[in-house]
Amino acid sequence: MGAQLNPMDYVVGIDLGTSNSVVAVVEDGAPVVIPNKGGYTTTPSIVATSESGTRLVGHIAKRQSVTNARNTVFAAKRLIGRKWDSPPARTVQQSCPYTIVEGPHGDVRIMMRDQVYSVPEISAFILQEIKLVAEQYVGASVQKAVVTVPAYFNDNQRQATKDAGRIAGLDVLRIVNEPTAASLAYGLDAKGEGTVAVYDLGGGTFDVSILSIEDGVFQVISTAGDTFLGGEDFDERVSGWLVERFRELTGVDVRQDRMALQRIRDAAEQTRCELSTVTESSVDLPFLYTMPNGDTHHLQETLSRTQLNDLTKDLVDRTIQICRKTLEEANLSPRDLDDVILVGGMVRMPLIQESVTKFFQREPCRGVHPDEVVALGASIQGTALTQGSTDLLLLDVTPHSLGIMISGGYFHELIGQNTTVPTSASHIFTTVRDNQTSVKILVLQGESDKAAENELLGEFILSGLEKAVRGQVEVDVTLSISADGIVSVAARDLKTGREQSITVTATSGLTEEELSALVSQSHDYMLDVKKNEELERAQLQVRKIVEEVEALFPEVRDVMSGTSFGRDAISKAEAVVERAKQDLQGSDVRALGEVQESLDRTLSMFRGVVTKTKLN
Ligand code: AMP
Repeated sequence: MGAQLNPMDYVVGIDLGTSNSVVAVVEDGAPVVIPNKGGYTTTPSIVATSESGTRLVGHIAKRQSVTNARNTVFAAKRLIGRKWDSPPARTVQQSCPYTIVEGPHGDVRIMMRDQVYSVPEISAFILQEIKLVAEQYVGASVQKAVVTVPAYFNDNQRQATKDAGRIAGLDVLRIVNEPTAASLAYGLDAKGEGTVAVYDLGGGTFDVSILSIEDGVFQVISTAGDTFLGGEDFDERVSGWLVERFRELTGVDVRQDRMALQRIRDAAEQTRCELSTVTESSVDLPFLYTMPNGDTHHLQETLSRTQLNDLTKDLVDRTIQICRKTLEEANLSPRDLDDVILVGGMVRMPLIQESVTKFFQREPCRGVHPDEVVALGASIQGTALTQGSTDLLLLDVTPHSLGIMISGGYFHELIGQNTTVPTSASHIFTTVRDNQTSVKILVLQGESDKAAENELLGEFILSGLEKAVRGQVEVDVTLSISADGIVSVAARDLKTGREQSITVTATSGLTEEELSALVSQSHDYMLDVKKNEELERAQLQVRKIVEEVEALFPEVRDVMSGTSFGRDAISKAEAVVERAKQDLQGSDVRALGEVQESLDRTLSMFRGVVTKTKLN
């Protein structure tokens, strides 16, 4: 462990993935991935509520997803920062076994056991688990983190991710783009100069970024992607094929049966992963469907790698088309690149490796685990930030243009796509009516000329303007994008130099009040979790000593019952065991601690008696 670090300085790098999350920390100058309780380096980004109302996160949630599909949320990252009326929300609604509903701010909310959660809350549950994993590993409280997001995430998605961190009790020092983190992990800065493409295909998102690295400065010069293209879509293809095969063979359409569908989806993913190493794989799902008359149907199929490639080739081609477009935007050809990095679990698929190698005309970098590379890079960045290192300066670009709506419903761009962040741009507004005291401004992100086709980030109302003839009041509005890619607005009355008050109306996600309430709720929950863990630990220890004492009783009775002193000692020991059993029924950690001390004394006396008898 990094013993020389002050506990307050622990900063972890978190890859909050669509299907899996990973946490890393820099120890003795080198980044390492922290394994979770089960020893796995990745934790499924899955949250569930059990029948008894217990919150489950990670592997434990994944394991029960088939039997509790309605109350198990996966791939929430696809919904983070999304609006209810957006196409992704509709797609999720049609394909997911859990229920999504419209939130009070036009955002998406998720239902588990009749309780409604915001998406940042769901992500916070995952981050809390990750935080616990890290805390157990470093043996201290972990508060600071660098969290990664796909480079293509817009402001709402970044802000919602930061909110998730806050709810989980983390101080998110920086939101870093996943491809940037991946390049850091490959230590590409040490090579000096170069141009790198990062191809990242995970469970739910795809992005490709072109980075230029010069003197340790990483600059994302172009980035593009699809926040709705990943392993899940490949699984859908295989599941669809299996459902169709089942229908052909049995006449039954299992799409209406959530449980059967979830089993098929799980089997589809497993088979698909197997086909990365073997050329043929079988799917075996006994008792998949029971007919109303009690007859049961099983699903038994074989899928070859060639069939899988046929089913998913167009998805792979889509990623390559995006790569082509991104290179064109950067005015580069594949030959201009020095390296290609593969990131995400999906890059193990042979068809993807072949297609990437063919398109970029080179073998991709190998060495760092594609699942771990992003978290490792994030931890490197976190350490650089807390130790004030200037050697590692990250420069990213904004993946979307930022602007405002102007009359006629048009979009007026203030900051162009691929501008290096942090950046800011100003625009001067004048009043259009006499005595107008406020102006409403819509801030949007996107590439369409039409405002309605872009993402609305917020409505900003400038109020308290001086009463004057129209056109005379001029307000300078400055839009800024931070190094995290998060947008903020400032406004100044040009004539008086006075700062204007700005009201921000949340258009998606959570309001400040909701957020504060969730932060304190989550804090209480974590206290409960920690208290429970302490209780379980105390109970475990007491139970163990009770067993040991009870095992020695017969022998001790044989030796000691002959004297009244001995009989007295035995009945005292019996009373201690009895008290321990009673305390085990309760939840008083202190009482358990006290009884453990008495048990310890009894046990050592018993051991002494037994050893002495054996010696005699
Ligand atoms: P990530 O979001 O980076 O954690 O990637 C998760 C995705 O990678 C899931 O869709 C997995 O099915 C997929 N994946 C993991 N291992 C393999 C493998 N060996 N072959 C193909 N896909 C894989």
